[in-house]
Amino acid sequence: MAERRLPTVIESLRRGLENGKLMYAQWRGEAATEPPRIFQTRDSMEVIGWIGTTLVIIAYYPQIRHLWVEKCAWGISVWTWVIWLIASILLLIYCVIRGEVLLSIVQMSNMASIVITIVLVRRSNTVCAYHLSDTAKRTKT
Ligand SMILES: [Zn+2]
Repeated sequence: MAERRLPTVIESLRRGLENGKLMYAQWRGEAATEPPRIFQTRDSMEVIGWIGTTLVIIAYYPQIRHLWVEKCAWGISVWTWVIWLIASILLLIYCVIRGEVLLSIVQMSNMASIVITIVLVRRSNTVCAYHLSDTAKRTKT
């Protein structure tokens, strides 16, 4: 199933990129076609989807890095992350049933990042200097 869908994903990425290039050329007045219309086609929506997917993947980095480097889980509610994990599992099932490749990838990425975060939170055993000073500031007032 994955082998069959992968070329489709690559093809839609390629077409989305081509469409983005055309829209940019139109915007610069280098393409003598009709004026650019953002979200004109399904392909430009694909580009937006992939940018969103990339941001979802990047978004976890600061939190995971802090947990990994500082071993500090200050202010993190594990239950929030567990609920997000359950939500992602349900949404993945929904996306797979609907045949949504992009959104399935987003959910799998979410699930991986959430599991990593929960494992690192459970491993964390210190409060970093930054959060220690933050806590000190709050208790002074
Ligand atoms: Zn910290």
